[in-house]
Amino acid sequence: MNANDIMTRSLNNISDLVASSDLSREYALARDAADPLAGYRDMFALPDDVIYLDGNSLGPLPKAVAGRIATSVDEEWGSGLIRSWNAAGWADMPRTTGAKLARLIGAQDDSVVVADSTSVNLFKVLSAALAHRPDRQVVITETRNFPTDNYIAEGVIRQCGDRHRLLHIDDAADIPAALDDTVAVLMLTHVNYRTGAMHDMKALTRAAHDAGALVIWDLAHSAGAMPVDVAGCDVDFAVGCGYKYLNGGPGAPAFLYVAPRLLGHLEQPLSGWFAHKDPFAFTPHYAAASDIGQFTCGTPPMLSLIALDSALDVWDQVDLAILRTKSKALTDYFITLVEARCDGHGLELVSPRNSEKRGSQVSFSHQSGGYAMISALIAEGVIGDFRAPDILRFGFTPLYTRYIDVWDAVDRLAAILGDRRWDTHAFHTRKAVT
Ligand SMILES: *Cc1c(COP(=O)(O)O)cnc(C)c1O
Repeated sequence: MNANDIMTRSLNNISDLVASSDLSREYALARDAADPLAGYRDMFALPDDVIYLDGNSLGPLPKAVAGRIATSVDEEWGSGLIRSWNAAGWADMPRTTGAKLARLIGAQDDSVVVADSTSVNLFKVLSAALAHRPDRQVVITETRNFPTDNYIAEGVIRQCGDRHRLLHIDDAADIPAALDDTVAVLMLTHVNYRTGAMHDMKALTRAAHDAGALVIWDLAHSAGAMPVDVAGCDVDFAVGCGYKYLNGGPGAPAFLYVAPRLLGHLEQPLSGWFAHKDPFAFTPHYAAASDIGQFTCGTPPMLSLIALDSALDVWDQVDLAILRTKSKALTDYFITLVEARCDGHGLELVSPRNSEKRGSQVSFSHQSGGYAMISALIAEGVIGDFRAPDILRFGFTPLYTRYIDVWDAVDRLAAILGDRRWDTHAFHTRKAVT
């Protein structure tokens, strides 16, 4: 029985209890009772007084991580000291944690490492990709890509002597037509951080390859949110975050994927000693590792890496098809409830209405009140976030978000909008991090 069958069967069972259009709180409870992923919530430390709809920005703490970190500090660092680089497997962890993560993005064995930040990893793979297509000048991105991706591309181009040009595409529909024989790299984020709109990874990768270009996918809002198939889509490079849907902790190391067919044929400029083929030979000159280790750089931040490694254990038995089915159901449900209960307050859906075309978040825009509305919601215990200039963003993480959380969040949003309690000076005043 596949994921959809299981979910459909669950839905059939509860449809006897409540009609599918029912806006009642009981309907949400019935759906939770039929949720095949319900058991995972208990693996996370979630405060009782919070409805957390921001796991797309900072995932919560998996309960097992605290103990694992304590052990690593006390035993591996405290007692093992430098011996732990060997005895506790520290030195291998960029690769072993990468291998754990590989299943979540459909990567082959030995093609993923965990290292550095997404920004730094993008620097490495974009540099490698441009060096691999020396006769081509153009890097394509989207104007509304996450800013760091475009900032890094500007820096890489400057570093390469301004021989390349960054072409910003405003409308995703125009990407295929822009792919010609001047394009070295198509650099896209699979799911847009503002709107949640999702690209067709397979079709765009094929279109880029047909034009002779290489492809880099940023999976920051995909890994842990849905099944991804980098091998099946024949992706060249991918990068992504450890601290969003993967719950690796604030500033967790990021990941990086390179297609095995390219490994051994690339250069990346952050040629640190951990990316050397034999770091402890201490040779005077650099010789790149021929495996994915070439895409690390220096000594990994072990405590952060251990936290991510432990957080990834949560995923051991998770069926990603079931995860995706629930993600679509949660986001559809949120849209239905907001439109039914918050009508007339100026909120406009900016995420695709078709769940097949969006990731695991829903965004609404509001002309002037977005920031204040999110602030007021947070004060009521519902944590979403605001993205300038006008977006209220809500992330839905199927491992721990319940249907009742969706219902209660919308209930509080409706209350805040109903009496305009958001419209105060305090709620309009911006904090440094939104
Ligand atoms: C969150 C995010 C990043 C973050 O990059 P850092 O280097 O971790 O700060 C990068 N790209 C995208 C698309 C993101 O959503």
